[in-house]
Amino acid sequence: MSRQQDDDDFDLDENSVDDLEGYSDGLSRADDDDADDDGAPGQRAAELVLLHDAAHVWHPYTQHHHAPLPVPIVRAKGAWLYDTDGRAILDAISSWWVTTHGHCHDDIIDAITDQAKRLDQVIFAGFTHEPAAALAAELVQRLPRGLSKIFFSDDGSTAVEVAIKLSLQSFSNRGTPRRLIAALDNAYHGDTFGAMAASGRGVFTQMYEPLLFEVARLPDPSVGDTIAALDALIAARGSELAAVIVEPLVLGASGMRVWDEQVLRDIRDRTTAAGVHLIADEVLTGFGRTGPLFACERAEVRPDLLCMSKGLTGGVLPLGATAATEDIFDAFRSEDRRKTFFHGHSYTANPIACAAALASLQLFDDDCEDDRIRIEVAHARHLEALRGTPGVRAVRQIGTIAAVELEAPAGYLSDIGRELAAFSLQEGVLLRPLGNVAYCLPPYCITDIELDRVYDVISRFLGGARAVAIPTGGPVDD
Ligand SMILES: *Cc1c(COP(=O)(O)O)cnc(C)c1O
Repeated sequence: MSRQQDDDDFDLDENSVDDLEGYSDGLSRADDDDADDDGAPGQRAAELVLLHDAAHVWHPYTQHHHAPLPVPIVRAKGAWLYDTDGRAILDAISSWWVTTHGHCHDDIIDAITDQAKRLDQVIFAGFTHEPAAALAAELVQRLPRGLSKIFFSDDGSTAVEVAIKLSLQSFSNRGTPRRLIAALDNAYHGDTFGAMAASGRGVFTQMYEPLLFEVARLPDPSVGDTIAALDALIAARGSELAAVIVEPLVLGASGMRVWDEQVLRDIRDRTTAAGVHLIADEVLTGFGRTGPLFACERAEVRPDLLCMSKGLTGGVLPLGATAATEDIFDAFRSEDRRKTFFHGHSYTANPIACAAALASLQLFDDDCEDDRIRIEVAHARHLEALRGTPGVRAVRQIGTIAAVELEAPAGYLSDIGRELAAFSLQEGVLLRPLGNVAYCLPPYCITDIELDRVYDVISRFLGGARAVAIPTGGPVDD
């Protein structure tokens, strides 16, 4: 089914917000007399959403000057999103890397519903509740050994902020302050200031550069010698270095750059020897994306701090968590109240979000692993077929994450990604390439047939197929 294109008043496929201007008159007329309206009910609902949206909503990572109209979604189930016309769109990117077991999974929705009827929210300083306590215990059981304390927050960026602050303050509380953080080139750790400072320099962070705190940069391990640089850094400034933060085994936002497990083990060895914390930002990799529940597990590495969010609630509600060692926790226990961790968010450990996370963890215990293995095998088969195809520069895979680097000028602002996004959307598949890197990072409920469909769209694009009307801008910018 394709989006209706036959409305005289308002052509959704014109892709211009300008079309909405002057439309509001028509809309209020229609409101006064519904019988006059010639559109289907779904279409009218879409028009109203788009009208309000265009007037008042500022979207993330969106250049509103030329972005196409957003797609109004009304419901979702499994791997599918449905728009106001009832058109189905296959969610091949887990709605920005969050959905794990599929949209609107009954078990998670039931858990949320039950919890919402009992306890919606309570201040988490001086109070606690069963969903948070149980979730902390369940997470600790599944995390790499040694991580025994959970600090809850709101999202991936805040989980990273918390990890950086915990590391810095733990040194300071012990009377041996260290102020330097080291991070990888091409890393992405979030959009708040601390997370931006740790992230690689590029389009996202450049403009704030003068305001970001100093971070020692290490080469991207997918292309450079990270360990030699780390050794040199420790030799020169080891006593200043508090922590090394990494996206373990795959640099996500910079194009799914997969890197070696041995390098992660070497980073662990060097940091342990130098008394430096290792922060594993598992906001993307956590909850099965690389195969095991956490990427650190794959490399048998035990970090001092581990950040979680995205898949934590199954991708249903926002929640962040930072796991820490007992040693870091102990650095904050003191008669001296100044050694307290003065950090907390209004919705810390929201009971409904924790209930969703508990239900999601249960699903990981059930048969989720079989699905992840099945997806891994299917990805490998499809990527093998794409390798060497004209238009394909490289293919990469780790666990359930597959990436296809297209021949095109590299970089996040590359046009080819937008063209693929437009074409795939037209074909009913949600892809959102990172520059010239297309990737498939699906919810684990996706079937082999649905995966075939994703790769079929990519193949046809490589064969020259394009969207009928290429948007003026694109589903841009990450
Ligand atoms: C997405 C992401 C973040 C930021 O998470 P938000 O919930 O968007 O704030 C941090 N680190 C990594 C590795 C991510 O992929």
